[in-house]
Amino acid sequence: MRVLVVEDELAMVEALTNGLTTMGWSVEVATDGLDGLWLATERTYDVIVLDLMLPGMNGHDVCRNLRKAGIWTQVLVLTSLDGKQDEADVLDIGADDYLAKPFSFVVLAARLRALYRRGTAPRPATLSAGDLTLDPFSNLCTRGGTTIMLTTREAAVLKVLIRRGGQVVSKSLILDLVWGEDFPGDPNIVEVYVGHLRRKIDRPFEVNLLRTVRGVGYQLAKVVT
Ligand code: CA
Repeated sequence: MRVLVVEDELAMVEALTNGLTTMGWSVEVATDGLDGLWLATERTYDVIVLDLMLPGMNGHDVCRNLRKAGIWTQVLVLTSLDGKQDEADVLDIGADDYLAKPFSFVVLAARLRALYRRGTAPRPATLSAGDLTLDPFSNLCTRGGTTIMLTTREAAVLKVLIRRGGQVVSKSLILDLVWGEDFPGDPNIVEVYVGHLRRKIDRPFEVNLLRTVRGVGYQLAKVVT
């Protein structure tokens, strides 16, 4: 099994290289994001272990660029415990799995073996609700085959609603997930963006998907098409 490790902490690089080599795996290392992207693009690996905080190019962009280039090597992202990214975040960049630092090597090895078994077939993850689709990498949105242009924030709000499949999502949860828990501005920004979304994904169409549940939050209606 060929593994690419993209990690800038040398102690971590050494530990991973030693551990994986001992298991008989072939390991190559990039210590910055640009080198990592280059190696992952030019050479063939079974699995990539990708740190997020990297010099040159961060892990989010490395992963996004790989997927954009049509490279579907399995990616396991290493996250920090203090990081605020949640699972949805990591999956949005096209990663396949993640592990929070510090982790046990035994767990990492098991996860890598599982990823290796899954192979490298293309697996675009389009989100959908009724006749609405959203590509979480490109933010390309369509409804009933019509392309809808969304800004990054609008797409982020829509992702939160689609992922919660018909549940009511509170304004404060949307605010935390899209703008961050430390957002210093006016929380009514959520209403503003829901308004933008409504104009784009609902107004031109016959059936409204986005509902306001007064005093509670918002939900995407489940539409059977
Ligand atoms: Ca790092």
